[in-house]
Amino acid sequence: MSERDGNDMRELLGETAERATRFIESLPDRRVAPERGASELASALGGALPRHGMPASEILARLDEIGGQGVTASAGPRYFGFVTGGALPASVAASWLATVWDQNAFSEVSSPIGAAIERVAMRWVLEALDLPAGSGTAFVTGATMANFTALAAARRAVLLAHGHDVDRHGLRDAPEITVVVGEQAHATLFKALGMLGLGRDRVVRVPADDQGRMRADALPALAGPAIVCTQAGNVNTGAFDPVGAICDAVRADDVRVHVDGAFGLWARASSRLGALAAGVERADSWATDAHKWLNVPYDSGLAIVRDAVALHGAMSIRADYLPNRSRRDPFEFTPETSRRIRGAEVWAAIASLGRNGIAELVEHHCRQARRFAAGLRESGAEVLNDVVLNQVLVAFGDDAVTAEVIRGVQRDGTCWCGGTSWNGRAAMRISVSSWATIDEDVERSIDAILRVAADVTGGSESPSDTAK
Ligand SMILES: *Cc1c(COP(=O)(O)O)cnc(C)c1O
Repeated sequence: MSERDGNDMRELLGETAERATRFIESLPDRRVAPERGASELASALGGALPRHGMPASEILARLDEIGGQGVTASAGPRYFGFVTGGALPASVAASWLATVWDQNAFSEVSSPIGAAIERVAMRWVLEALDLPAGSGTAFVTGATMANFTALAAARRAVLLAHGHDVDRHGLRDAPEITVVVGEQAHATLFKALGMLGLGRDRVVRVPADDQGRMRADALPALAGPAIVCTQAGNVNTGAFDPVGAICDAVRADDVRVHVDGAFGLWARASSRLGALAAGVERADSWATDAHKWLNVPYDSGLAIVRDAVALHGAMSIRADYLPNRSRRDPFEFTPETSRRIRGAEVWAAIASLGRNGIAELVEHHCRQARRFAAGLRESGAEVLNDVVLNQVLVAFGDDAVTAEVIRGVQRDGTCWCGGTSWNGRAAMRISVSSWATIDEDVERSIDAILRVAADVTGGSESPSDTAK
């Protein structure tokens, strides 16, 4: 353990590259569902705590050979579960190098490259999404934490407007904040509210329309302090709340409008899709993921807050051994302090796509989603949503039949789709989010889904009847 042996490292990383490449090459034809479940894998990997350590190459072999059996092929071209981006080659490579660097990206002193690459990557993100250039920003683990971070800034700002510094004095003597959410807000938003002491249930729920959009006409009359949580991209339908109209309706010094745009915010990179997300830029803060539609490896989320001072006030800390307040160090804006260099993958992904590439990626997925909808509808399946983005909801009959088709598709292994419930009906969710998905994968997946559906419904829907 005490010896440094460069040759061993060269061999180990060479072996890692070899095994990783084999995995990537297996993806186009690999069963999408894993071969083994978690408890089986845990016994295979586990046993008692080893008394002695094992050589690294043996550890790698075990991880690859045992662990590989439990890998969902979500990095591959036919995984349509949840909203799961693949990982662009440039961002995977950047992630490897950044891991070897092992930087603590909390400050300029601990890692100049960490601070610099985040600054550049975030400036590109703001340009691509057309959000205010001077915003306070944070690289975090995902949209859950991005919602938390942005809402912490909102909580600070709306209470400061009433003379209360919540970050110093807590919520106990604070004026009550009215929190408004859409009926179809994402489950993680409620968790963020809970973590902030605002309460998961202590919210005013605004009714949504049949696509899950918050109804601006149903907003209550608001008195501040208040935070309105909107959504750009419903996790089931892809629909956007009318964020611009909501901003107009509630604008006040002690009211903040937040947008959960975990994947949908990226639609703003496309001029074709821009109309969908018009007005989103008028909000006060935004949360999004890079690991979903931008296709960087997990885990990567971004919080963006127009009022950089509020974000700084909520997140900065002081200690004698820490750098002086520069208002530039990443840790002054993030909930975590020590952190890996998450900006590297985002920078690499955007460098490899460019502005046009991001737009093409999201437009391509929207086209593929429409192709899914058309192909499945032609064979008698029912598409339950307006396919405005990359999300498709499909029913194959009554709830029991749809559930059976979803199980069958997952077992079949050609592709993977999850389930949900929409307007009281069971539905299969198809989310097209990976750069790796080519049109042929969509056709293969439609065929597989129809084959399974035909089996379940007793042959009434045969893929051979499908008009292509
Ligand atoms: C995925 C998602 C989240 C949660 O994001 P994580 O990256 O899993 O933390 C929040 N909101 C919406 C709309 C999402 O789609």
